[in-house]
Amino acid sequence: MKKIFLLPVFILVCYGSIAQDAMVNPYLYSNFPESTYDSLIRLINNFIPTQDSAYLIREGKSVPNPWWLLSDIKRYGTPFFYFHGVRNLPNDAGGAEYKPVILSISKEMEYDDYLARIAYVGRWDSVNSYVNQINMVAITKDSRGDYKLRNPMDLLTKYWPEKKVGRVTYKINHSRQFDRTEAVRMDSFNTAIAAYFHVPPCEFTYYSCKTYQEMWKAMGVEYGQVMYINDNSTGGFSLHYAKCIISGNNSEYYPHELVHIYSNIIYSSEDYRKGYKYNRMADEGMATYFGGSQELSLEHHLSKLKEYIERKKIEKLESIIDIKSARPGHEIVKHTDVYYAVGGMIAYLVDKKAGYEGLIEMLTNTNQATMLAYVGELYDIPEKEVKPFILRKIKQFNGF
Ligand SMILES: [Zn+2]
Repeated sequence: MKKIFLLPVFILVCYGSIAQDAMVNPYLYSNFPESTYDSLIRLINNFIPTQDSAYLIREGKSVPNPWWLLSDIKRYGTPFFYFHGVRNLPNDAGGAEYKPVILSISKEMEYDDYLARIAYVGRWDSVNSYVNQINMVAITKDSRGDYKLRNPMDLLTKYWPEKKVGRVTYKINHSRQFDRTEAVRMDSFNTAIAAYFHVPPCEFTYYSCKTYQEMWKAMGVEYGQVMYINDNSTGGFSLHYAKCIISGNNSEYYPHELVHIYSNIIYSSEDYRKGYKYNRMADEGMATYFGGSQELSLEHHLSKLKEYIERKKIEKLESIIDIKSARPGHEIVKHTDVYYAVGGMIAYLVDKKAGYEGLIEMLTNTNQATMLAYVGELYDIPEKEVKPFILRKIKQFNGF
């Protein structure tokens, strides 16, 4: 069960004044001229109603978010992913939203950029006021001299020591002791997975952090509950399009996240770039098949799942997962999420029959139903038999 932490009240003044506008900390000090200050506040206020999407519909066309630096959108695809959904309060809060509050804007002398901190503050019923998340955002001038928002990761990691091992550029958090053996392993995995998919090995950047909290901070989240409710406090992300891995795993080896980068290389459509229309379960299944999850191999997860199925006398796959609507987040035993384990089994079955081309096909089946139908096609079984077939394969699992 997830714990909910409530932060003590520290922002109450003027809260909830104007619907869309971010409230500005009334005690906000600035180390730059007032005219700049007004422009920056205006920029943030323009951005906030659009913060859930890197692309907006204007006059029937999809256009890049005009408040964000265009080169950043081209580089990351979704450079402000950490803002998505942070305004949404739980359903029982009566449709209220977390309200943005600009906590600080400072000129970063060493970087020639500005750094703003925006808190998302909620309040309902018995709870006076509390913070959902505090995000950082960098502000820079574009080539035309207009202020634009940008992802702060470059700025926040600018002084992290850098090392290159093979095709991997490591940026290492000061708290982390670089492990060259793991870095060499990562580079070898990169070569192997590229060969498997018949593409040249890619160059990528690996931000290596000791802890999960450090990882979120490097990505621009100063505070968020998610940083503290992860039991084993490890994990990571890949920013597929920018070919970056951000690891909070205290390790220079993270094969699972690299497989996600290859998903983007082998299925590089506009839709994928914008983070939509690809089969997430297929993607996670494939990443778990090749790279494990939570630092444990797919074999480990499948044997745990098999044990669980035997112990609970499970007769139907639906009793452990509804593939058509499944989301990650259901651990049947500690560290084994059924979504990743079953997804991994599906990837294994597809690979066995149809190799890398089959896996690409699986990834591009945009929903779970067509993915299952594809498995049926490969094994020449009717669609309704596919789920019992997958369950049987898990029950019979005895290692790869
Ligand atoms: Zn993943």
